[in-house]
Amino acid sequence: MSIAHLALPSPLRHGFDYRLPEGGGELPAGVRVRAPFGRREVIGWLLHESAQTTVPVAKLRAVLAVLDEQPALNPALWQLALWTARYYQHALGDALTQMVPALIRQGEPLRAAPEPLWQLTARGIALAADGLSRAPKQLAAWQVLKAHEQGLTETTCRALAITRDALKALNDKGLAHCLQPTTRDEMTAPSWPNLGLAQPELSLNDEQAVALQALTQAPAGFCVWLLQGVTGSGKTEVYLQHIAHVLRSGRQVLVLVPEIGLTPQTVARFQARFRCPVLALHSGLSDRERLNAWRQAREGRAGIVIGTRSAVFTPLARPGLMVIDEEHDLSFKQQEGFRYHGRDVAVRRAQLENIPIVLGSATPSLETLANAQAGRYRRLELKQRAGGARAPRVRCVDLRGQVLLDGLCAAARAAMTETLARGEQVLVFLNRRGFAPIMLCHACGWQAGCARCDAKPTLHRAPMRLQCHHCGSESAPPRHCPDCGSSDLRPAGVGTERLADALSQHFADTPVHRVDRDSTRRKGSFDALMTAIAQPGPAILVGTQMLAKGHHFPNVTLVVIPDSDGGLFSADFRGPERLAQQLVQVSGRAGRAEKPGTVLVQTHQPEHPLLQQLFSQGYDACAQTLLHERQLMGLPPVASMALLRAEAPHTEAPLRLLSDLAHWLREDEPLVQAWGPMPAPMARKAGMHRWHLLLKSAERKPLHLALARVVAWLEAEPEARRVRWSIDIDPQEL
Ligand code: ADP
Ligand code: ZN
Ligand code: ZN
Repeated sequence: MSIAHLALPSPLRHGFDYRLPEGGGELPAGVRVRAPFGRREVIGWLLHESAQTTVPVAKLRAVLAVLDEQPALNPALWQLALWTARYYQHALGDALTQMVPALIRQGEPLRAAPEPLWQLTARGIALAADGLSRAPKQLAAWQVLKAHEQGLTETTCRALAITRDALKALNDKGLAHCLQPTTRDEMTAPSWPNLGLAQPELSLNDEQAVALQALTQAPAGFCVWLLQGVTGSGKTEVYLQHIAHVLRSGRQVLVLVPEIGLTPQTVARFQARFRCPVLALHSGLSDRERLNAWRQAREGRAGIVIGTRSAVFTPLARPGLMVIDEEHDLSFKQQEGFRYHGRDVAVRRAQLENIPIVLGSATPSLETLANAQAGRYRRLELKQRAGGARAPRVRCVDLRGQVLLDGLCAAARAAMTETLARGEQVLVFLNRRGFAPIMLCHACGWQAGCARCDAKPTLHRAPMRLQCHHCGSESAPPRHCPDCGSSDLRPAGVGTERLADALSQHFADTPVHRVDRDSTRRKGSFDALMTAIAQPGPAILVGTQMLAKGHHFPNVTLVVIPDSDGGLFSADFRGPERLAQQLVQVSGRAGRAEKPGTVLVQTHQPEHPLLQQLFSQGYDACAQTLLHERQLMGLPPVASMALLRAEAPHTEAPLRLLSDLAHWLREDEPLVQAWGPMPAPMARKAGMHRWHLLLKSAERKPLHLALARVVAWLEAEPEARRVRWSIDIDPQEL
């Protein structure tokens, strides 16, 4: 009897044994199977076959169907799945489920049915370039078809913005024809050796040229590059020209960007340059569209795939390069469930696929800098802004003793007035959405609180409500103080909504654009805002971190940061690193074109060494200091860390569980330090009491061995069933 060892969509970390149908021949690992599981039928993955099982024969259930002849994931990606599940201590079946599109885990075929191919006829190939000059759409279609002699499917034509009408017109003129496929073999993937650029490349400055030369002349194979370039230094232009080389060699490219960075503008920049399909994997895709994109990437029909974190698992028929833009960005780490770090998984993938990977950032993470210093990553630097733009001037404004009006001091207001009078734009960065962070009673000091969290709900005006940003619960603001009955309830503190209102009143003739999660919720509203901001003339931009990343605001010449003190005193050891990155990123929005920019940072701590060093010596020097501190304290990236979280509706069970574990680890695992248990920084969230146990080790290996034992213990321990526990490897937020 042949036994199949399966990974099933389940949080359990072990595999499951099933009987295989007789005479099926040997199956490759990674094919999908349908199997009964409890009372349901599920789709799982074959890990391996064997002749034995510990399950009694009578209890052994049978696999119902084998869905694939070939595995869905190529060997490198299959290895990546195994590695990722193991490294992040996550159930393999669940990890695999999250790595593929919904329709693949529901059993849709791996490949699309064969499609007809469009090709130029002999007459079409012989046509002179000016033959269609009066029909621009047909001309564009003809150019693309000419660059792809082997033909293009209709899906690919659509991805390249060739209209059906243009194809039909070419067909009517006898310039192109449509071939019906007879066998699957005709779906051989196109490559892009004849790739003509749809747009000329910029001529590179010296630094860019040096970087591009290093990238393109490196020997083939795995290599991690850090492209560290100040904002506006032309990193993207370097990626684009490097990508052109890779495409010409017939290979595909995977580009990962932060969640906020995947905008139509970003995608358009890639699409405008290349005459090959550029696929964007964004959250607006339907399941069917996502499946189509996945198939096009997997079958090699897409040249470039751009996506956020989860796109790291997109299969590629001929991978040639990966690019991780803004590699320091927190959105690459999944913060719940399968808590992988997209950048770290990407580096591992590049190694397994044996291809180069480029990590780009103006403010690299300390992890990446440490790797570059240790010689594991190769660093390329762009220190100058491209196209002659100058770096912004940064000034700290001492807030002590100053009168603030809606969070801004007189000097900041004066600078804004001057900038607007010159017809230029001002960006005010406030990472706090809503009207006011607190609502309080002026008579007795009562403050509104969230019933389910140790947090204060934020007051929003449009529509009027108190909303907890941690659990999402909403309520109408009370009219009278529940403690003293006074009706003198007031908002305290300033959020983006309030700041934008106040600035609209103060600068009555100037348009004020607010960019935050609330103002961009509706589909298309973000693009509408970006279009409004691109108009010439004075304007004020008020925004959260949505404004701090990736976008170019050539008309902004003044950046005001009203409140920078929060990050200086964060409980999280990464607080200062994040603050430095944020300040540099926001500052980078100013003065990108020929106009020089100014950055005003309001602070009560103008002498704080972090701010001092950041603004006088720059990010690199500051990062060195922070790395040195981490070294002294034995914190990542010098040490390895994992966080055990436990929560329950009552505080005793998670506390006891983590105490037992801590005790056990201290006795049994001398190479691992256990800190805690301690209450989570927000000890109660959405009605759950939350506890942390932090594990740390100078070496990665003993920590991971200990964690494997911890997981085995937790899965077997009856007490553990009364709490919700999770393991976070390399936690990014404590
Ligand atoms: P980064 O990705 O480093 O922020 P970008 O590649 O977006 O920088 O470039 C910033 C701006 O400079 C863009 O408007 C871009 O078109 C322009 N730029 C980049 N490289 C050059 C160059 N070699 N010559 C002229 N302009 C350039
Ligand atoms: Zn009161
Ligand atoms: Zn809450």
